[in-house]
Parts: sequence; C-alpha cells; structure tokens
Amino acid sequence: MADRRLVYPGDSVGVAEEFVAGPGTYEENGEVFAATVGMLTLDTTDFVARVEPFPSQPAVVKPGDIVLGVVQATRPSMAIVEVKAIASRPNRGIGGDTNGTLHVSKSSDQYVDSMESAFRVRDIVRAKVLESDPAIQLTTKGPDLGVLKSYCPRCGSPMARKGRGVVCPECDWKDTKKLAADYGEGYIL
Ligand code: ZN
Repeated sequence: MADRRLVYPGDSVGVAEEFVAGPGTYEENGEVFAATVGMLTLDTTDFVARVEPFPSQPAVVKPGDIVLGVVQATRPSMAIVEVKAIASRPNRGIGGDTNGTLHVSKSSDQYVDSMESAFRVRDIVRAKVLESDPAIQLTTKGPDLGVLKSYCPRCGSPMARKGRGVVCPECDWKDTKKLAADYGEGYIL
C-alpha cells in the first residue's frame, strides 16, 4: 500500500516513528519533511517516505541554441533535420515540433549547388537555431557547424573524413559534405 500526493519543500509528510526519511525528504525533530517539490510516496511495506521530483519540463528550442539533429530528408534547396538535443540542455527532452528546416543558402559559407551534395539522410549534424516560431529554421554556416557523423549509403559503415569530404573505409564510397571541423572526433554536443 502506498499513499501518493503532491508535496512542496518543507511540507510535513509524517513522523519519524512511522516513516524513515528516504530520498527527497529529511528528518528534523522527529518529523519528516519534503525536501523537494514532487510526488510523495508513504510506503507502508518498508516504511520509507520518498518524494520523487517531477521530471524537468521539456526544453523548447530557441533562437541561438546550438542543437544536434539527424537529417530526415534532402531536397535540392533544403534539408529537414529532426532536432534531438539542445547543447545547453542536453538532458532534457524537447517539447513541441522538432523538425527543423535547413535551407541551402544557410548551409555553408561556400556556395552549395544542391543540399543533396552536402547532406544525406541519417547524417548527424550540429546546427544553430535561427528561428523557432512558427517553425524551426537552422543554419550550419561556420566551421563548428555541419555534419559530425555520416554513414556510407552503400554499406552502412561510418564514413571517415578525407579532405573536405568523406570516404567509406570499407567500400571506398566517396561523398562531399558540409563538415563540422570536428567531424568524426566523437560526441557531439
Ligand atoms: Zn561503404
């Protein structure tokens, strides 16, 4: 049996004679108090009082955020990138729409003829958010931004950097990319 209710820091949740102060609680003068806002559980099988903090609110993508995403589709003029994480808030889920648009004119300081020659589905990219409302607009201009990891479209192996492009170490497939300066050096945010 367990009784669950919302409590706030400092709320009295029980007496120490009945319940041991567990995670999210503390004991003072024989009384047990909540140490955090969350859901109180008074467990009558082990007689421990616990307060589980609420998970933090999902992060909302904002202009200026550096994000990590995965290319979902490419067209000549743009790529669709699903935003997976925000660099400054990596441990939080992302609320709202996560599909960002990366337009060819915002993809590189160099001229890019077609997004299909600079990005490919499954590429992992680091991008900066230009706008988030009503839709996420991204840029990969600048040396720190662009593709961080990519996979061979023929055999699926991770592609290695070669000059300004990438090459498959297994089957020798070559691709051009808009690479981040630290392409292939690991992870990531
Ligand atoms: Zn390959």
